[in-house]
Amino acid sequence: MRLSGPQALSIVGGLVRARGPLDQFPSHALRRVALLDPRSRTPLDDALCVVMRAPRSYTGDDVVELSCHGSPALLRMIVKLARERGARLAEPGEFTRRAFLNGRIDLTRAEAVALMIGARTERAVTLAARALAGELGTRVERLRSELLDVIAGLEVALDFPDEQVGLASGQAWSDVTRLAAGVDEMLALTDRARAIHQGVTVVLAGAPNAGKSTLLNALLGADRAIVSPVPGTTRDIVEGTIALGGIPVVLRDTAGIGPTTDAIEAEGVRRTLKAIDDSDLVLLIIDGSAAPDARVLEVARQRSCLVVRTKSDLPADDGARAIPDALEVSALTGTGIATLLDHLGSEITQRVSPDDDAGLFVTTLRQREVLESLR
Ligand code: GDP
Repeated sequence: MRLSGPQALSIVGGLVRARGPLDQFPSHALRRVALLDPRSRTPLDDALCVVMRAPRSYTGDDVVELSCHGSPALLRMIVKLARERGARLAEPGEFTRRAFLNGRIDLTRAEAVALMIGARTERAVTLAARALAGELGTRVERLRSELLDVIAGLEVALDFPDEQVGLASGQAWSDVTRLAAGVDEMLALTDRARAIHQGVTVVLAGAPNAGKSTLLNALLGADRAIVSPVPGTTRDIVEGTIALGGIPVVLRDTAGIGPTTDAIEAEGVRRTLKAIDDSDLVLLIIDGSAAPDARVLEVARQRSCLVVRTKSDLPADDGARAIPDALEVSALTGTGIATLLDHLGSEITQRVSPDDDAGLFVTTLRQREVLESLR
């Protein structure tokens, strides 16, 4: 538990018993304390406590941190006692906001904290760690200093036109063009980094009853989607995330594409087509044991899809078998699932980031917009 602010020491002081009073604890030293209910003086826990005095703390205010045993009930009790003594719950990101407002970290670092918290794979963590180390700030600082050189050079040339000093306008133009090209390169790198950070969306599309939800479950390795033998029961979109090649992959099951009889199903189909448009990759699921649906094949023609012929444990239909380049799976027996995951993984890696991540850097939307405004 972290308490930050001018009253942090007095609030926690009333909740702990230690060898000396809390306000005389040395800064940045870990001390063992007994946590007590201040009214009954009954002990609550045996904890570790560190005091970090302003301004040398994360937030720049006085900070007290308590490491207690990990019982949620105990933590709730301590939070309640601290609140009774005048503390309040921090808002999401408030410690980092205070750190920024108190000048402890710059904005790019404060934003990198959010990137780190949102990182879902090891690759994303590595990128966020580089952001936290101030990589973007360093690059932008370099850019700014080169731009300032151009501006200064031009001003000198304007102030002393007869003396042939400063920067010639042709040279200034080519410097600025080079810097703008550098910004374009940065944006391309952030694009790839963003896919690693946010993940990609893969939509499972196909006719109703093709076996999409069963396949989604098999891919997720957990019961996440509704599976039912009645066509069209998966009316809404169900999704789950897996990590492939260090990239978060959101798998979205959809209502089927096909002739519909009621309004709710028609809405489901509309959403499916939208989900297909919004996705990075489409897995077109075809029931290998039944004649393929013309509308589904139309979708396959219009978009590049990875075609999956499922229910391979059942006798194959000749029409379905004729569809080229399809991966055979049985979601029921698990045959082909590992191969499908491998294919999916390499397809995504190729699209997102075929090389290693050196040089990539992740940005927040705001930082990206600022970069875009420089072009
Ligand atoms: P969806 O409408 O495309 O989501 O299809 P479902 O996943 O609900 O599956 C429709 C029916 O096909 C259900 O009865 C499933 O049990 C069955 N099914 C799905 N995958 C397989 C499979 O690989 N083999 C067999 N034999 N049946 C399957």
